[in-house]
Amino acid sequence: LRDTKQIKMELGFVEEPENTWRLLRCYFPSKVGGKPAWLDPEHLPSVDDMECGCCHKPLVFLLQLYSPNDDKLDSFHRTIFVFCCTNGTCYSSENDAFPFKVFRSMLPKENDYYPADPPDYDEPNAIRECSQFTNLCGLCGNHGVKKCSRCREVQYCSKDHQVFHWKLLHKYQCSKPKDENNEVEMEKSILFSEKELVIEPEPTAPKKENTESEFENLKNHIQSGDYTEEELNDAVANVKSDKAFEKFQKQIAVEPEQVIRYQREGSVLWCSSENIPSKIPSCECGAQRQFEFQIMPQLLNHLKVDHSIEGPTIDWGTVAIYTCHDDCNISPYIKEYCWLQHFSKEAI
Ligand SMILES: [Zn+2]
Ligand SMILES: [Zn+2]
Ligand SMILES: [Zn+2]
Ligand SMILES: [Zn+2]
Repeated sequence: LRDTKQIKMELGFVEEPENTWRLLRCYFPSKVGGKPAWLDPEHLPSVDDMECGCCHKPLVFLLQLYSPNDDKLDSFHRTIFVFCCTNGTCYSSENDAFPFKVFRSMLPKENDYYPADPPDYDEPNAIRECSQFTNLCGLCGNHGVKKCSRCREVQYCSKDHQVFHWKLLHKYQCSKPKDENNEVEMEKSILFSEKELVIEPEPTAPKKENTESEFENLKNHIQSGDYTEEELNDAVANVKSDKAFEKFQKQIAVEPEQVIRYQREGSVLWCSSENIPSKIPSCECGAQRQFEFQIMPQLLNHLKVDHSIEGPTIDWGTVAIYTCHDDCNISPYIKEYCWLQHFSKEAI
């Protein structure tokens, strides 16, 4: 994603990383799961910013995309971070808020945290630079603002994670030498499994059918029947809804494993014609936001969401991410906007 302004659609795929150290922040990774590889490791989003808008529990890191903007000096490094809630009930379409938070972080080439020259991607030489900051929650890797009051060794982002860690592990480990294996097992129980995100151009789609005229034909067909105006509107809306879903399916079929569709200033591939945002709120700086990428339902397969558990689980049709058109740099982590769309019930 070196040039974010290119028009071509790019797709993201989940892959097992060749070397896990390449997912550390000093290698500017794009990745899914594990702890966030913060770009600015010092001025992290506040604890309040990391709360789910629905259940108010701490959000967990979902993915990050490294997508520099070469047009601007202060976006030499640029990463978009997405966090989400692990509570399935927060994904219900009845909620007012979406269980996601999106942040954009940027740094100029010359900065306080990384050398101006790119790291050696073949050797783990930069690892030492990655471990300078220890202001992180021992469990989830978000901003750590509380410390264990006994050992003063471990930090937490929230009371929730402190209590969770204490009950299941830390009460046996506090003030003792750390058992890394246990800690890793513990992290696994709350974090999504860590994978690399690999970005490739979308292959040319199969020959496009003229969906617009197909739709007109259907509309004419419906209109020739004996319907009331209301019935007609409903019927047309349903045809449209199926059309959006059909288009979605057709486009996915070109590369069924895609988890990300990336096209800055491009358009969203909606999975339904219902519940499409009519207006995207502007950035805090005042500039318009534009579409940057969307998260596809295939990603759910990699998150190891346990569908055997009773009740709702994490779920989406697609999640569209919108970012500031001007790539403003008003804070180290600028809040961006996302829209969650579920599949229409009729389509399934
Ligand atoms: Zn929630
Ligand atoms: Zn935490
Ligand atoms: Zn302790
Ligand atoms: Zn802005």
